This record gives sequence, structure tokens and C-alpha cells, in this order.
Amino acid sequence: MREGPVARVAMVAAVEGQYSYAVPPELTEKVGVGKRVLVPFGRNRRPQPAFCVSVARETWTSTLKPLTDVIDDAPLLSGPLMELGEWIARYYCCPLGRALSAMVPEAIRRQSGFVTVRHLTLSDSAPETARQTVATSGQTAGGPAKRFTARQRAVLDTLTHTPEGLDLDDLLVRTGVSKAVIAGLLKAGHISQQTRRVPLPAPDFDRPGPEPAFDLNSDQRAAISRISALTAEGTFRAVLLFGVSGSGKTEVYIRAIRSVVAAGKQAILLVPEIALTTQLVDRLAARFERVAVIHSGLTGAKRSLTWAAIAAGEKRVIIGTRSAVFAPCPNLGLVVVDEEQEASFKNQQSPRFNTRDVAIKRAQMSSCPIILGSATPSLETWHNCERLSHFEKIILPSRVAGLPMPRVQFVDMQIEQRQRKGLHLLSQETESELAETLGAGQQAVLLLNRRGYASYLVCSRCRTPIVCPHCHVNLVFHQSTGKAACHHCSAKMVMPTRCGDPSCGGTLIRFGMGTQRVEEEVKTKFPQARVARADSDTMTKMSAYEQVIRDFGDGRLDILVGTQMVAKGLDFPRVRFVGVINADTSLMQPDFRAAERTFQLVTQVAGRAGRAESGGRVVVQSLAGLSPVIQFAANHDYASFASHELAIRKSRGFPPFSRLARIMVSHPAQSQASKHAHELVEQIRETLTRHGLPADVLGPQTAPLARLRGQYRFDFLIRAANAARLLQILERLRGEKILPLSDKHILIDVDPVSLL
Ligand code: ADP
Ligand code: ZN
Repeated sequence: MREGPVARVAMVAAVEGQYSYAVPPELTEKVGVGKRVLVPFGRNRRPQPAFCVSVARETWTSTLKPLTDVIDDAPLLSGPLMELGEWIARYYCCPLGRALSAMVPEAIRRQSGFVTVRHLTLSDSAPETARQTVATSGQTAGGPAKRFTARQRAVLDTLTHTPEGLDLDDLLVRTGVSKAVIAGLLKAGHISQQTRRVPLPAPDFDRPGPEPAFDLNSDQRAAISRISALTAEGTFRAVLLFGVSGSGKTEVYIRAIRSVVAAGKQAILLVPEIALTTQLVDRLAARFERVAVIHSGLTGAKRSLTWAAIAAGEKRVIIGTRSAVFAPCPNLGLVVVDEEQEASFKNQQSPRFNTRDVAIKRAQMSSCPIILGSATPSLETWHNCERLSHFEKIILPSRVAGLPMPRVQFVDMQIEQRQRKGLHLLSQETESELAETLGAGQQAVLLLNRRGYASYLVCSRCRTPIVCPHCHVNLVFHQSTGKAACHHCSAKMVMPTRCGDPSCGGTLIRFGMGTQRVEEEVKTKFPQARVARADSDTMTKMSAYEQVIRDFGDGRLDILVGTQMVAKGLDFPRVRFVGVINADTSLMQPDFRAAERTFQLVTQVAGRAGRAESGGRVVVQSLAGLSPVIQFAANHDYASFASHELAIRKSRGFPPFSRLARIMVSHPAQSQASKHAHELVEQIRETLTRHGLPADVLGPQTAPLARLRGQYRFDFLIRAANAARLLQILERLRGEKILPLSDKHILIDVDPVSLL
């Protein structure tokens, strides 16, 4: 038995569990929590990177292997962020090392953009000669001083007077010697050097813009004073800032953040997807100083330098998407999540965290409030305001400047089609609104939440649809490329002309519709209009999207056709008309959140109309009749929608009245996938019963996307009454090795946002 420091580490490679290593004497100074270390691991004992999770004096036996090395000079993650990482790993069922790696992007780990600084001190090993030299050099020219040249003496002299040492550049300036002189002294061991990595200056994101001239209205003032009271107290609280689009939420964020910054603290503002919110981000960034904007377009060096500047407290306001929730702010005073309900806040790879929920956890750990802003809050957040004491709701009840909400009209396309000859994508109502809008020199937005030209290719004789050979989902025909594409695996094939079944050989017809067809019909009916389409086919590059948005904003376009891309976060004063082409596309999806998503989408896009002048108009077309969901959206009535939908969720036991974990089992062989899923469900049910853990296991079934990238997929849900219960159950299943965390055939998604 021996005693000494022992480090516990989590492997960077996705390996479950924590491992202990003895810290050898030469590394005791250097090792520390939040730094990466190299440890012998695996059968071949090759050194592998790991995060150091704790260091403590322990007694240990000689079987404990020693650390190989310490990689980082400074911790990559502070204590509180390590704690957050441990929570993420536990709650979202992922290996700790992977959660920690996700919090520190690669470029930051590499310290891109940092330079190495050499720091020189008088060496311990040769102090006598050197000191003697200095002491005597002024008086007697003889003795030991002779051993050094005048230049060498200058260096030794300077370093004797600065016992803490000097950086190489300073030393060169002070002494006027060349690097060769220093190198000589180093080689002879008279002086010694330490190196450290320091960041170059961080990128400057500050682009101050004009301050708006208006005064805040009384609702905004009340909201700000409530939030400021919370930030001043330093209390954790989640505040839902609930207000229709244009009610002035963004202005509230700005003022609340400024008051936090004025108090010397930092604030993080999270937005769903930078690509969809460039306009908002520009507008926000222009209102702050010492701002950092974190988005995927940042180069590695910029990202890593920005990270360092945040950690040093130089950047005060951090605006960004998911990863910005991990910004290493030492002094966090406020977190804001804009559009808190957005599905894009959910990380779609392990760790499958929801950024909003991590942000709430982080605010709690930092004892600061968090603002969740939305016109259409998630039902989870809405429900939390009703049942939890640390949630509260602040309402901005109306649009600023008294602008009315746009009038929304509903068109039943089945009735329309019976009355009108031919197949029309645009209803008569939509057409006449478009004509009027163009006539008035204003702009229109048309939303259809499906890209491509036609949704399906179907055999005219046997009605068999053409499907992707890998994923078995319908292929979508794209007019611009003339190809049929799979929207799940991106496979593309030449448009077939005949039925895939040779015994049939019927001709194919296009059925359904996508944004391309809408664009085509608009161009035919309004040849004079300037039309552009924004969806992920045309907008593969962020710059293309930005260009279209700029052109539309500057009035070089009349009509913007697009998918949900056009529904989010855009603020165009000249938009008079918004048309929703087929509101039930998303309502029909096999997911318990389909109604919620449809409500959000229709409400959001309707909010784009009439933002600057009254008289905004919206037409919502639907094929499946008028559902209550669309009716609530048409009336801008979130509260009624919420109580309607919450009643349904409650009766079916779905969130927010329960918590779910979705388990997906995949395998290239269908029988294997099915067998594995069934066995897993059996084992889980048995374990739950054995431990008296109350939970439902729903399934297994073939996943809605039954085959993806050559893998057959089966899924099932574990449903528990609340988060604590679910966590307990998942920990039990992991403990009994029933649910492994790093099995490529099993995917665990806690709090899934989509079941598609
Ligand atoms: P939201 O974030 O709720 O959609 P914004 O904060 O973007 O609302 O406000 C909508 C528009 O109204 C913006 O152009 C904003 O500059 C402006 N605005 C905000 N508050 C006021 C106010 N009190 N008086 C006049 N205009 C305002
Ligand atoms: Zn496919």
C-alpha cells in the first residue's frame, strides 16, 4: 500500500465509466481537474487522452498505473462547467468524456490561434557563477566574470534583477542582444526557460449601430424591472417572456443584458439556428459592446481565441447557437433563450441534450435568472409556469406601437378544388391577396413546409410509389436537377419514367407538391413579380441564404417562397401578405408533437405579416379541413391552444405529463434489429418489475423512418412520471448493463423532441 495523489479520469473516446491513475511526483504540480491527461489504456496500454475529473490523496496499491502526462497547461473546463458536464452525461445517458468533449470544441482543445511564449529565468543550477558575475562585474573586471562576454553579462544581469523572469521578447529588447546569445546561455545551463501558450487578440465582433429612438412601453418596462430585480439579487429563476411577435421581447432582452453587463457580469443569449437568424443576430450584436458571436462559420482559430477572451472576462455578451451554452463565462449574470421551443436547440448527436434545458441547469448552478422568450412557448415551459415555484411568466400582451395582429383567413382547398377547374396550389383568395400586395408595391411570403417539386412519384397504373432503396421513404422529384432525391440519406437518382415493377411498367405521375412547384405556379400567374425561393435546396450555403434575405429586405424581391426557413426570426416591414400553402403537411406527421409544431409554424409565419403598418393579411390553406389547431393559430390564441392540447397530452400521458426516453435499435439485418429490440424491451420490463420501478415501455415498433442509411430501425419509448424517475430508471438499466452507452446499434434519446 502506498499513499499519494490519485487522479480520476473520463476517457475522451466514448468509453463508459471513470478510471483511477496514480499521479507521479513530476506531475503533481501540473495535474488538475478540467485538464486533459494522457493515461495508459486498453489492452495495448497505449497512452490515450482523458479528462481529469478529480484529484485526491488516497492510499493505493502498486497495481494502480501512473498518469503518462498532462496535456493542458490550464483547465479546459472550470469547476462549474465540469459539474454541468457530469449532469449532462448522467441525464442524457452518454459517456462523461464525450459530454466534456462536446463542451470544448476541437479548435479550443488545440488552442488554435495561440502562440508559444518563452519565459526566461536565471537558472538554479548555475546561480553562483552567474550571480557572482553580476555582483563583481561592476567593480572588478577580473575573476569569474571573465568567463562571460559583455552580452552574456547583460542578460545575466537583467535576469538577476528580475527574479520572476522575463518573456523572451522583453529580454531581447531590454538587453539588445541576439537570440543566439540567449540560446548559448540556455545551452550552458546558466538560464532556463518555460514555455506557455497565450492567445492572440480575440476577433472583434463589435459593430455598434444606432440606438432606436422610441421609449419602452409600460409592459416592457415592467418586464425589465422584474428581471433586473432578479439579476441584482442573483437568484435563479426561469422567466417565460411570453409575447406575440413584434411585442418587443427582443428589446427587453437587450435592456436586461445591458443592466447585467453594467454590473460587471456576463450574459449568454442563445438563438436557434444562426443561418435562420442572421438578421436578429446582426441587430442584437449592434446593440452591445464587447460582444462575441459564436456560429458554425467561425474558423477554428477565431473560435478558440473567442473562447479564451470569454474565459478572461473580456467578452461580456455571448450570442450563439447550441454550443454557446458552454461559453466559459467566469461571471455569468443572465441567460436568455430566444424561441425557447425550437427543435433545433436539441443536439441531434450524443450527447443529445436540449440546449434550453442545459441553459436552465446552468443558470441554476450560476445562481442567475434565465429568460425563455417565445410567442409560442413549448408546452413543457408553459406547464412549468403553472406548476413550479421557480418558473414565472411575464406577458407582453400586445404588439408595440398598437399594431393589430394580421387578419388570418382560412381556405378549405377541398371545397376550392370542387369549385375550380384544374389543380391549383394557390387558392383564389391567395391569388387576389398576392395581386393586391404586388399592386401596392409591397411584399409577400409563401410558406410550404416541403421542399422539392413534387412529393411523390407514383405509378399511374399500380399506384406503387418510388422509394429510396436505402431508406424506403418516398423519393422527391426536384425540377431544378431533374433528379429524384431521398430527403433522409441524400441519395439521388435519375428520374425514372416507368414503374419499378417490370410486370407493371406503368408510367409515373407526380403527386403532391413542394416549394419548387409553388415557385413555378407563382411565376406563371405573376410573371412580372420578382420571386425567390428559400429552402435547403437553394440555400446550401449560408451566404446564399443571406443574399436572398438581404435582397428581400432591400426590396429587390417581391415574393419569397420557402419552407420553415422563411417563418423564423425575420423582420421585414414591407411584408403585407403571408400565405400558408398546405398547413396540414406537418399536422399529419406521426408524432405526438405534430399539433404543437403546426401551431408554432402557422403562428410564426403569420407573425411575419404587417410588422410595420397595419393591414397585414394571412391566408392559411388546408386540405384536411379546419382543425382546431389551425383555428387557434388563425386567432393568435396560444392560451386556448395550450389548454386544448394539454388536455389531450394529459389524457394520453404524454409530456409534459410524463418524461420519455426513446430507444432506437438499428441493424443492417431486419430480423436482427427486430429481435434485438424485442429482447431489450423484455429485459427492461423484467428489470422494472423486479425493482418495483413504475414506468411504461411502449413498443417496440418499426420506427417511422423504418430504414435509414442501410440500417433497419425499431424503436420504443420508456415513459416515467417525471425526470427524477426517468433518471433513476435509466441509471438502473445502465448499472445492470442492459442499456450500454456506447453500442453503435443502440441510441438513447432522453426527452426526444421528435419521434419521426
Ligand atoms: P419581438 O422580439 O417580440 O418580435 P421586437 O423587440 O423585435 O419584438 O420589436 C418589434 C419591433 O418594434 C422592432 O423593430 C423594435 O425595434 C420595435 N420596438 C420595440 N419596442 C418598441 C417600443 N417600445 N416602441 C416602438 N417600437 C418598439
Ligand atoms: Zn434514402
